[in-house]
Amino acid sequence: MVIAIDGPAGAGKSTVARGLAEELGFTYLDSGAMYRCVALTCLEWGADPNASGEATSTAESIEIGFDDGEVLIDGVPVTDEIRTPEVTEAASQVSVHPGVREAMVTEQRRLIAAGPFVAEGRDIATVVSPDSPLKIFLTASPEERAERRAAQTGADVSEVLAAQEDRDRRDSEREHGALLVADDAVTIDSTGLTPDEVISRIAGLARERGLA
Ligand code: C5P
Repeated sequence: MVIAIDGPAGAGKSTVARGLAEELGFTYLDSGAMYRCVALTCLEWGADPNASGEATSTAESIEIGFDDGEVLIDGVPVTDEIRTPEVTEAASQVSVHPGVREAMVTEQRRLIAAGPFVAEGRDIATVVSPDSPLKIFLTASPEERAERRAAQTGADVSEVLAAQEDRDRRDSEREHGALLVADDAVTIDSTGLTPDEVISRIAGLARERGLA
C-alpha cells in the first residue's frame, strides 16, 4: 500500500514524505533520487543525459539501492553526490526518456510491493501506483519553492528560480510521466505552512481512510 505524494521541485515533498513515513511507521521512497542516480552515472560514464539510448542503457545497467537513509549505486553510497546542481539538471534531462522511466517505474513498483510506503515524486499517483488509496499533490508558490531550495544550498534565489522554471516546464511538458494532478488527488498548498503542519494534515487523512 502506497501513500503517493507528487508535486513540483521545492514543494517540500521529501521533508513531508520522510516525516510522514516516520510518523506512520511506513517506509519512505524518494523516486527522484533514482533519476538522480541515472544522471550521476551518465555524467561519470560520459554518457549524454539528453540522448535517449545512452541514458536508457545507463539506467538499465545500474542497481539502485536504499539503505538506512543512504542512496546506493551498485552498492556504493552516493547520497551527497546526487544533490549537486549538475546532477539536478541532468536528472531533469534523463527523466524525459521513456526507456529511463520504464526502468525506474518497474523498479519502484518492485520496491513498493514489499509493504506500506510513502512514495514521493512526479508520477507516483498517475503512473507508478494509480490504485494508491491516498494521493497528495503537494505544491507551493514558485517564489517560496525557490527560497526553500536556496536556503538549503546557499545558492542565489533568482538563479534557483530561473533553473526551477526550466525544470518545471520540462516536468510538465514531457510526454511520459509528466507532472499531472491525479483526478482523485488531494491538493495541498504548503505556502506558509510548516512541514509539521503538512505532515499532520496528511496523517489525519490517512487515519480517516483507515490506512494507519
Ligand atoms: O524530486 P527531485 O528533484 O529529486 O527529482 C529529480 C528529477 O527527477 C526531477 O527533475 C524530475 O524531473 C525527475 N523525477 C521524475 N519522476 C519522479 C521523480 C523525479 O521524473 N517520479
